[in-house]
Amino acid sequence: MQVVAVTIAQALTEAYRTIDRLDARMLLQHVLNVDHAFLLTYPDQVLVPQQIEDFSRLVKRRIDGIPIAYLTGERAFYDLTFKVTEAVLIPRPETELLIELALERIPVGQPLKVLDLGTGSGAIAITLAKHRPQIQVVAVDVSADALAVSRWNAKNLQVDNLSWVMGSWFDELSAQKFDLIISNPPYVAENDPHLRQGDLRFEPQIALSAGSDGVACIRHIIEIAPKYLVSGGWLLLEHGYDQADECRQLLQHVDFSNICSYPDLAGIMRVSGGQMNVSS
Ligand code: GLN
Repeated sequence: MQVVAVTIAQALTEAYRTIDRLDARMLLQHVLNVDHAFLLTYPDQVLVPQQIEDFSRLVKRRIDGIPIAYLTGERAFYDLTFKVTEAVLIPRPETELLIELALERIPVGQPLKVLDLGTGSGAIAITLAKHRPQIQVVAVDVSADALAVSRWNAKNLQVDNLSWVMGSWFDELSAQKFDLIISNPPYVAENDPHLRQGDLRFEPQIALSAGSDGVACIRHIIEIAPKYLVSGGWLLLEHGYDQADECRQLLQHVDFSNICSYPDLAGIMRVSGGQMNVSS
């Protein structure tokens, strides 16, 4: 049998015929365990048979629509890289806004308590815990598989100021107060056609879709949060592009102060929040 040598450049050219160029590059980097600079520097390097096989298998799965992050098993978020599996939502750049708003409210050195509801991969909880080592973070998720991913990430990123609770939102939490409650809950309406398109088809529906109007989880969190917030404590929630007004109304309804919505980098109102028991 004649063995045909396949170089980096040839493997990429072949993959570009069927999948996005950036996707092809990321998959080959993953298979070869190298960075982009390596691909550019050594286009003539020959792949070993196992690498060719692994790369073709990943390209095929990408053609089937599987998200890149599930194929490579990881996604960068803020300044860290998180393991992701099909059990968790893939961290998104717009969620970095939640991190910025939360860090602004957690002064360096202050031993505050933070609650992350629906932690998934742990991207939010672990990033905050890593940047503010003096805080204690409680991360809640209803999915045992998601919690396992979150625990793995915390260990891998050497974060230990974090504990986990398995349960739906506040249900399994003992009576306690937090200085900050943060969440990226499911907020896509269950009949939204986007759930049946692109990467979203492969992500856990439980992490994406919430009720007929998309605000069922947001409404629940806003209603219960006051019981778990200290006076002056903040609630910050990510929401859909058209849910900011409704979120602010819900926050108003349960007497939050300093209610505000904040735009993401695309200029879309993406996070709303308020403060407990302070006059605005
Ligand atoms: N921003 C995500 C999307 O529409 C939804 C994330 C969520 O429901 N929390 O792709």
